Amino acid sequence: MVAGLDTDQLGTFTGEVKRPADQLETARRKARWAIDHTGARYGLSSEGSFGPHPQIPFVPVGLEVAVFIDSQERVEVVERLWCTETNFAHLTLSDLSLPDTFLDRAGFPSHALIVSPSCAQGPFCKGIQDRDGLRVAIATSIDTHDTAFVQTDMRAHLNPTRQRCLRQLAERLAARLLTYCPLCAARGWGVVDHQIGVPCEWCGSETELIAADVFGCARHDCTHEETKRRQEQASPASCPRCNP
Ligand SMILES: [Zn+2]
Ligand SMILES: [Zn+2]
Repeated sequence: MVAGLDTDQLGTFTGEVKRPADQLETARRKARWAIDHTGARYGLSSEGSFGPHPQIPFVPVGLEVAVFIDSQERVEVVERLWCTETNFAHLTLSDLSLPDTFLDRAGFPSHALIVSPSCAQGPFCKGIQDRDGLRVAIATSIDTHDTAFVQTDMRAHLNPTRQRCLRQLAERLAARLLTYCPLCAARGWGVVDHQIGVPCEWCGSETELIAADVFGCARHDCTHEETKRRQEQASPASCPRCNP
């Protein structure tokens, strides 16, 4: 059902509207909003964020979060997906020479671009998918503000790469909704946390590697959890003491 909700009220990628909460909470609010607005039993939403990879700063990465809510059973399922396959990119221009390498990396024109005077300042010319429109937008921005900030349009309907990530995320969410809590049989049983700290096989000190996955129930009043260990010992290569 299309409820006619303007989710831009919960933040935009370009920042004209700031996200009122963190990524997960924003996704949660969207799903709840849909339920409140339509009276439907189920709410489903997703929220993406893009930036430098937390460990490899020059590699861009996307984090997609999906939230499913069953308002009747009071179930909330959260799935996350890190996407290293992303076209997320931007650059600042002071003349009309936009390099083809940038356009290739951005996947233009099958993927849209946004032009604005700077990353934080509008007007934002969004959804550009043709060379003439792009040239005009850049020229206008340089004429009026001396610079043009060109960035990939990360809205899903204009970004096939992101659509592929969202498909993968949706498949994971669907699989999770077919997994039931071993104690109360609620939908959405799955990994809710990780425990890090696999001991190094040489010196025994804790590494940053994930030692165990914590599985949990998605129903608000069921606290059932099960921990599954991944590995008992870590190679010294991952040890901060043996291989600093
Ligand atoms: Zn349960
Ligand atoms: Zn060690």
